[in-house]
Amino acid sequence: MHTFKSHFPAPSGSATGYDTLVVGAGFAGSVMAERLASQAGQRVLVVDKRPHIGGNAHDRHDESGLLIHPYGPHIFHTNSADVFAYLSQFTAWRPYQHRVLCSVDGQLLPMPINLDTVNRLYGLQLSAFDMEGFLAGVAEKVDQVRSSEDVVVSRVGRDLYEKFFRGYTRKQWGLDPSELDASVTARVPTRTSRDDRYFTDTYQAMPLHGYTRMFERMLAHPNIHVMLGTDYRDIVHVMPWKHMVYTGPIDAFFEHRHGQLPYRSLHFEHVTVQPPAGQAHVQPVGTVNHPNDHLYTRVTEFKHLTGQRHEASSLVYEYPRAHGDPYYPVPRAENTQLYRRYEADAEELSDVTFIGRLASYKYYNMDQVVAQALSTFKRLAQR
Ligand code: FAD
Ligand code: UDP
Repeated sequence: MHTFKSHFPAPSGSATGYDTLVVGAGFAGSVMAERLASQAGQRVLVVDKRPHIGGNAHDRHDESGLLIHPYGPHIFHTNSADVFAYLSQFTAWRPYQHRVLCSVDGQLLPMPINLDTVNRLYGLQLSAFDMEGFLAGVAEKVDQVRSSEDVVVSRVGRDLYEKFFRGYTRKQWGLDPSELDASVTARVPTRTSRDDRYFTDTYQAMPLHGYTRMFERMLAHPNIHVMLGTDYRDIVHVMPWKHMVYTGPIDAFFEHRHGQLPYRSLHFEHVTVQPPAGQAHVQPVGTVNHPNDHLYTRVTEFKHLTGQRHEASSLVYEYPRAHGDPYYPVPRAENTQLYRRYEADAEELSDVTFIGRLASYKYYNMDQVVAQALSTFKRLAQR
């Protein structure tokens, strides 16, 4: 079994150098390293400035032994049989379907908005068939759906938009929904049925022993060396390599030469609680959203996600921030334009490949990052 150390343990590759230097040990970097080592026989050095592998999907046990996600709740879901089969080489799974309730007008109501959300909010008894008519009645006509406001008001009208989306989006992004691309709120569907699952993907499951264990197995190949707690800039001119795969923020790679690309950050407050006697949880579902009250957007109780049995329970509160670790690209036209300038610079560099959520400046879920890494590997392997 491979061990991961904060300091480079003078690996054998250092004498002759590495075929590929991978910057970042998250999904993008780890998938790429695994493929290059196992399929192309390459010697790979993975460097991450954090003291652990897994990037934002890293999980660990806290002081009470509860499995938590230090960088916020990560729920795996995908429609891609290929992505699921690929990751299944490194982990067994625990089936899990995520459910979210929104705290609105003193009630906890299903999110995405569904038939029960509307019936309970307005004290109605609509059928699924009536719901279509109801939505058609309240929806606003929008000629061209451009912004995150347009998406929602054109589907569910102004009142539901204001109760469920406007406040949450303002908090999460520091922008009004009218200032954000349609793609942001379009992530959340509207349902006329009573289906209260947050995702409807074919594959929905959590790594049985956690994400970090899965990453350990991906990186356990003898040709992969992992160097943690190290900024790649500190070794890039010291360690010989032929090709680089860079998965950090793209503007940082180019020393912000065209200006800073905005990335939204979060502060995570982790709290351990004791559920009432006889109960395993303090929340009825994995996540409760708070669109209109509090400075945090949502609260997640990990035991719902992990299925862990433990007398205590751990919650994470998410407080959006403008500054701090980069977590989300901010999808809006002016940022995409700025990203295009960095992308053009990136295309000039034949010895560096840019992938992942931060280097592509795309609001990717984990499975999309895996898919991008797998297809990029195939392209590189053909070269
Ligand atoms: P990252 O995981 O960010 O990895 C990049 C790595 O590069 C980092 O570890 C960083 O330390 C390292 N790095 C950067 N610069 C340097 C440098 N100069 N030197 C060395 N190392 C460097 N997706 C889902 O599918 N489901 C979810 O439920 C979900 N929930 C999420 C919740 C939150 C709060 C957030 C922020 C994201 C969530 N995601 C979710 C998205 C998911 O986190 C990403 O899609 C995925 O982790 C991106 O992987 P990545 O490898 O591209 O980037
Ligand atoms: N959103 C909202 N209210 C909610 C849930 C989501 O307004 O109750 C909006 C908000 O802008 C959010 C976006 O929809 O950023 C995408 O939500 P998702 O749950 O996919 O966000 P993530 O899990 O990526 O943070």
